[in-house]
Amino acid sequence: MSLLSELSEQLPGRAHGPGATEYDAGRTVFAGVGEPDAVVRPHTTQEVAAAVGLAAAAGIPIAVRSGGHGLLPVDDGLIIDLAEFTSIEVGVGGLVSVGGGAHWGDVAAALAPHGLGISSGDTRDVGVGGLALGGGIGWLVRGQGLAIDALREVELVTASGEVLTVNDTTHPELFWALRGGGGNFGVATRFVFQASPVGDLVSAHVNFDRSDVPAVLRAWRDVMRAGPDELNSSLILMPPMGPEMPGGPQLAAALLGDEAQLRALLAPVLALASVAEVSIAPSTYGELLEDAPPGRPPFRFVGGNGFVPDLTDAALDAVAAAYARDVPTMVLLRALGGAFSRVAPDATAVAFRDAETLLIVNGVVPSDATDEHVAVVQAGSDAALAFTSGVYGNFATTYGDEVTAAMYPPATLERLRRVKAQLDPGNVFRLGHNITPAS
Ligand SMILES: Cc1cc2nc3c(=O)[nH]c(=O)nc-3n(C[C@H](O)[C@H](O)[C@H](O)COP(=O)(O)OP(=O)(O)OC[C@H]3O[C@@H](n4cnc5c(N)ncnc54)[C@H](O)[C@@H]3O)c2cc1C
Repeated sequence: MSLLSELSEQLPGRAHGPGATEYDAGRTVFAGVGEPDAVVRPHTTQEVAAAVGLAAAAGIPIAVRSGGHGLLPVDDGLIIDLAEFTSIEVGVGGLVSVGGGAHWGDVAAALAPHGLGISSGDTRDVGVGGLALGGGIGWLVRGQGLAIDALREVELVTASGEVLTVNDTTHPELFWALRGGGGNFGVATRFVFQASPVGDLVSAHVNFDRSDVPAVLRAWRDVMRAGPDELNSSLILMPPMGPEMPGGPQLAAALLGDEAQLRALLAPVLALASVAEVSIAPSTYGELLEDAPPGRPPFRFVGGNGFVPDLTDAALDAVAAAYARDVPTMVLLRALGGAFSRVAPDATAVAFRDAETLLIVNGVVPSDATDEHVAVVQAGSDAALAFTSGVYGNFATTYGDEVTAAMYPPATLERLRRVKAQLDPGNVFRLGHNITPAS
């Protein structure tokens, strides 16, 4: 009997195959559309456990769909779509229980009336499951750390179909692994986060022309080094995309504070001759989150990301050189430090805590670019990425042993592999950034 038939028999109305609307919704992710064996959309944790049990017994790999913004299209395997797990309950002392399939925009909206926020990402549509299990870098990262730093408990369905309540006391090693180890250890049906008060916010957008990119890079770095944890910011170097879109540096910043304070903190960048446009306005945490683009763009990004422990002048020169090359190149610098760096490297599986910045460098090439062209563009991106250590898995757009090895220092990866061997020795949860079980 096929997996779909077995699932349909045991979980009537929950299993879906080709032709069903739920199948199409489950198999369509940001990066494209797959051809999985089946999509199951459980309504309860027990139904999740039943689906996991059937797939695991048949040796069929499982991918979990929360927001669908991380998975690469799945062609063989079962997708467990958590579309029914979207509840958000604000409890005593700012403890918030969030379903494993909720979206971060909905979390922000539910917390706003309470004056609370959870450090998450920049985008409304991104799922709680994928972002939280991989780390979670967003607008509150310097004040509150990563999303995983606010995580207090996870309800997890393991490969054996067991339902565990995982926290620092019940299963400390598994709780450590879940905070950065991705979807390797089971299906997270519920998360409990500690939300924090988010007071008055003010946001700034500053566009620069391309006349002196090195000066913008240095001024931004210096402002963020001197700035308080309440100041968060990213700097994007946009490539020119035709006459209407000349490209150039774009700074976005948010401060828990008021406009005068933000202007004072940003004064060195606002004084630069290349400033073209400035807008500064009061905001809310929810308003800072953006809608995701409809899907992966129709061209190829060639480069990668990494954590920069020290944004030296040499590192900034390499970034400026990568941006200035002939190939259109997009660069993103995200200020870290603050609360992100006050977490010990071995406290969670996201270990590169000494980073002051996350750097993404991508050359833009046509989808059908030759291997030779791709190799040249990759080398140009790598020259800037040479100043990084490690890779942020949530922003890595390919899977593979090399990518997984770059996401963790060797000792962290070995520790994760030991947890994987205990929880999922058959490696049923291997369809994302795969951590192979220790032998
Ligand atoms: C437009 C866009 C904007 C982004 N912005 C940010 C940002 O600001 N900050 C940031 O840190 N990241 C950001 N990301 C990256 C994002 O964190 C990852 O892509 C993340 O994996 C997406 O989570 P998801 O739940 O939407 O993805 P999904 O595709 O649903 O899942 C991704 C992975 O996590 C696993 N998984 C998901 N939910 C569960 C669960 N409940 N239990 C077990 N495993 C699960 C899946 O099996 C899969 O391996 C962005 C990505 C995109 C495409």
